[in-house]
This record gives sequence, structure tokens and C-alpha cells, in this order.
Amino acid sequence: MTPIAARLTIDLKALAANYQTLRQIAGGVEAAPVVKADGYGLGAGLIAERLWREGARRFFVARLSEGVALRHTMGPNRPAVIYVLDGYIPGTGGTIIDAALTPVINSQAQIQEVRAWAKALPYPLPVALQVDTGMNRQGLVPEHLVELAQRPEDMAGLDLRLIMSHLGSSTRPSDPRSADQLSRFRPLRALFPETPASLAASAGIFLGSDYHFDLVRPGISLFGGGPEEKPDPRLKAVATFEAPICDVRAVAMGETVGYGSGTVLQKPTRLAVIAAGYADGLLRMSKGRGRAWFKGALRPIVSVTMDLTSIDIGNTPAAPGEWVELIGPNAHIDNLAAAAGSVAHECLVRLSTRADRVVIGER
Ligand SMILES: *Cc1c(COP(=O)(O)O)cnc(C)c1O
Repeated sequence: MTPIAARLTIDLKALAANYQTLRQIAGGVEAAPVVKADGYGLGAGLIAERLWREGARRFFVARLSEGVALRHTMGPNRPAVIYVLDGYIPGTGGTIIDAALTPVINSQAQIQEVRAWAKALPYPLPVALQVDTGMNRQGLVPEHLVELAQRPEDMAGLDLRLIMSHLGSSTRPSDPRSADQLSRFRPLRALFPETPASLAASAGIFLGSDYHFDLVRPGISLFGGGPEEKPDPRLKAVATFEAPICDVRAVAMGETVGYGSGTVLQKPTRLAVIAAGYADGLLRMSKGRGRAWFKGALRPIVSVTMDLTSIDIGNTPAAPGEWVELIGPNAHIDNLAAAAGSVAHECLVRLSTRADRVVIGER
């Protein structure tokens, strides 16, 4: 039977190997997987359960709803610490308690709101604090953290478990911004000497031991995304996205391919038309510059439409039903992302549920 749908293969053995590699690069400090956005689209429960087996005990999600869902999957036998990056949103206290979540407090307003609510609890509420060291996105401004350290009563009813910050330019090791953020973070975390600290996400882990502190927060690198937004041989592809050939067409020089008048062939071209398009999550902007893997070589992606994508296969013999790899060990996600002017994170979270999903490797 000729397959007619794209296929997303999730390799849990590669995931486990990446986790151990990252722990090693982080010098053995704790690595807390970031499984926000449903585990970068691959399934937060699936990913977290497998990494629990590898020894992960703390996890990060972005939204409260993601934390609730993850707690549900982990169940009573896997009592993970689940940090919620969005922090505390008034009115959600009951949910935080029921799902035993740890909010990452991000602002003075959140501190006041969470304290006002937590004072009625019979025990201090576990929280983390995020401080902004120069990314200017999320986190307390440093002056507010200093004030907080000077007035411990402002933390009454809260049990501070982690102090963290996030790097804005860690994918460019030569960018002085990382060292600058590090030098701002050091004195801030020193205000809370008893509390574990965390600064590095995936790329930060590769910046060296100065950036590791007590805990690192890998996301994309768990799935094979390289620290400098290009392939890194130490990390394995976890997601392989492939599509079967529906048709092979020989098209004359000067003909136009696909919609509009964008792609005019400069030479006679054999095109494999495959059963995947942007409705399956393939970034439309990857046409023209992205390349897919077929029979031992990377080949230009000529056109991407909603359901079908055309690949220039040169003179290589090809038949309907044969598979083309769009993302995987040969067609690296970082390269496809770069071709589309994006990052591996976006490439991964876009992969839709239309493609068939196959999980390989022990769960
Ligand atoms: C998303 C996120 C991470 C993980 O980032 P990666 O680049 O995927 O490793 C870590 N920390 C914070 C605060 C984040 O928002």
C-alpha cells in the first residue's frame, strides 16, 4: 500500500542520550527539562515520563494549564517539581495547590498578589523568583530583588526554592551580552546564598561552567537543536519528519512551479511531490533555501503548499511511496529553521497533529 500521510517519528532513545550528554556538559549539575508548549510539540507527558526515568525530577512549563496537565500525567508515583514560568495569576491559587505547582514569580505585583493569597495557607508556598538580568522580557528588575533581600518580611508565607534568570544571546558565544548578564546575576543570586540558582537554558549550558550554577534548564537541545543554531554532533535528532512521494514529474526549463510566479525553473527539473505541506507544520518560508534528504543527498525544496511540497531530485530514480526526510538525522532541524529565517524551536512546535506519530525507543 502506498502511504499517503507524513510521519513524525519521536525517538526516545535519542532523547535519553541527549539528556545524559547535557548533564555531562553541565558538569553533573541538575538538569531540569523544559517541556512547555506540550514538550515542544512532541508531547509533554511522553517526554517528561521518559526523562523521569533518566533521573529528571524538576520540570518547567510556561502556562498554568501545562502544569496541571503534566501533573496529571506524572501521577502520584512521579512526584516531580513542576515550575510554572508564567508565575502567579490572581484567582489561580486553588489550581496551584491542587496540582502542587511551583510558580516562578516575575514581578513585584506578583509577589504582592501571591503573598496576599498564600498567607491563608497552613504552610509556606514553594516559589521560584526570576530576575531580569538584561533580556528585558520577564523577571523582577534587579533593584526590586535587592529590596526584597533587605526586607525578608516581604517574602512571608513564601518558601523560596530557586532564584533564576534567562540569557538573551546565549546562541552567540562571542556576544558580550552573556558575560554581562552573568556578571549581573552573580551578586543578585548572592543575596540569597541559601537558595539554589539557575541561569542557563540549552545554549547557556555550552557557555561553560560559570553559567551552570545549581540547575540548568534545557529545552531545544533535548530534542537535538544545536547550541549555536546549527547542528552539533553531540546531540541526536529526536524528531524525524518524513513524507512519502505521491508523484514524480519532469518539468521543462522556464516552467513555473506552484502558486504565483515565484519559482521559474532555470533548467529541466525532476520534481518529487511529497505528501506534506505547511498544514503539517512545514515552514512555508523554507521553500527556495531549505533542503530535504532523499537517497543519500540533500535536495532543494522548490515549493511548499498546504498539503504538498516539491523537491528537486535531479536524476535520482524515485517512485511513489518512497520517503523523503524533511527533518531528522540527515536533514537537520537547525538548517531547515535557518533556511526559513527561524529557529529550531519554532520548526518543532509547528509540526501539527495531521502527520502520523510513531514513538520508537523504550518509554
Ligand atoms: C523556553 C525557556 C527555556 C528553554 O529554552 P531552550 O532554548 O529551548 O533551551 C529555559 N528557560 C526559560 C525561562 C525559558 O523561557
